[in-house]
Amino acid sequence: MILDSYGKSFCLLCPGPVNVRPEVAAALTEYEFGHREDEFCALLAEVRENALAVAGIRDRAAYSAVVITGSGTAGNEAVLSSVVPAGEPVLCVVNGEFSGRLAEISAMYNTGTTLLEHAWGEPLDLGRLEKRLAEQRFSLVTMTHHETSTGMLNPVVEVGALCKRYGTRLFVDAVSSFSADPLEIERGEVTFVSTSSGKALASYPGLALVIGRRAEFEKLSQVSGRNYYLDLHRYYTFAEGRSQTPTTPAVPLVLALNRALELILAEGVDERMARIRASAQQVRARLRQRGLKLLDETAVLSSVVTCVRIPAGTTFEALRRGLRAQGFVIYGGKGPLSDRIFQISTIGEVDIETVDRFFAVLDDLIGTSPRPTRRQRSATV
Ligand SMILES: *Cc1c(COP(=O)(O)O)cnc(C)c1O
Repeated sequence: MILDSYGKSFCLLCPGPVNVRPEVAAALTEYEFGHREDEFCALLAEVRENALAVAGIRDRAAYSAVVITGSGTAGNEAVLSSVVPAGEPVLCVVNGEFSGRLAEISAMYNTGTTLLEHAWGEPLDLGRLEKRLAEQRFSLVTMTHHETSTGMLNPVVEVGALCKRYGTRLFVDAVSSFSADPLEIERGEVTFVSTSSGKALASYPGLALVIGRRAEFEKLSQVSGRNYYLDLHRYYTFAEGRSQTPTTPAVPLVLALNRALELILAEGVDERMARIRASAQQVRARLRQRGLKLLDETAVLSSVVTCVRIPAGTTFEALRRGLRAQGFVIYGGKGPLSDRIFQISTIGEVDIETVDRFFAVLDDLIGTSPRPTRRQRSATV
């Protein structure tokens, strides 16, 4: 048995894994059945339908969803290894860790991969993007909706309009933002979207979802997939034809994901997004009360994470350990942001009392208090 120093479950203030609702936990062990039986077929059909509903898809007949056993990266790799005909060009728009990973994965399968690079946290330069699209016809453009590494949202609808104008398909990694921040799949003319079970959907990690236009899934019969396990067309034909997955699915995780999707639909997708947004705003208000600085005050911030500059006199490791000893888990920055920021995420089951306890522990650790000092006050006027 693994016993931690804290002695009970951690409060996960990271953008996945997240604390799940008791109903989701219970669903894991609710039933036992074979995955080649009618019960699983019915369950998979429900999950796929519920996923489209949570995605806010109005024209349900025009879209389809597949469930892949694997983390969010499995969904991304399924798309990037399955949808681009050999040798055709792919443009990966990069402005952080996760859009960079899309480019890395694409380069492994698609020889024609090119990057449109930005600094981490730099807003996408739509002028530069349009220029590239006008120069060359790309088979696929990739981007993240929420760059989890910087906490910023990218403009999917604007990029989608450009992709449409220049006749290319758009793949959006919405692994962390799906169901937390509005993503206009139809209006944005998005071809494929990926997400995972263990972030804002607030179930356990281990399943990826890929949602896409049905017509584009159909066309994949003409493209030879370059990854056996992650062949997107096979997932689609198995799901559509017999409501099955090509290989053994993680049935308990599918049960838990379906319960999480049902809970989101019962609360209301928009209502829940508003709740998650309000919770992020409460976190940001408490940070401001203490004079703590966000990574970027002017950026279009997601509701999923808040990136906070590490104040002078402490380190990420000291913060992480101190918070962990009191039961709180936070993540730090990656790449150029390592040791410069820490992240707070409240997409899981976190109530306002827990947020207040977190800030009390933080205050103890770094000597802040909920009212700014006179010096901080004069610095902000
Ligand atoms: C977390 C994350 C991923 C990777 O997901 P895994 O589940 O760890 O494979 C990909 N993209 C984004 C934007 C993420 O936040």
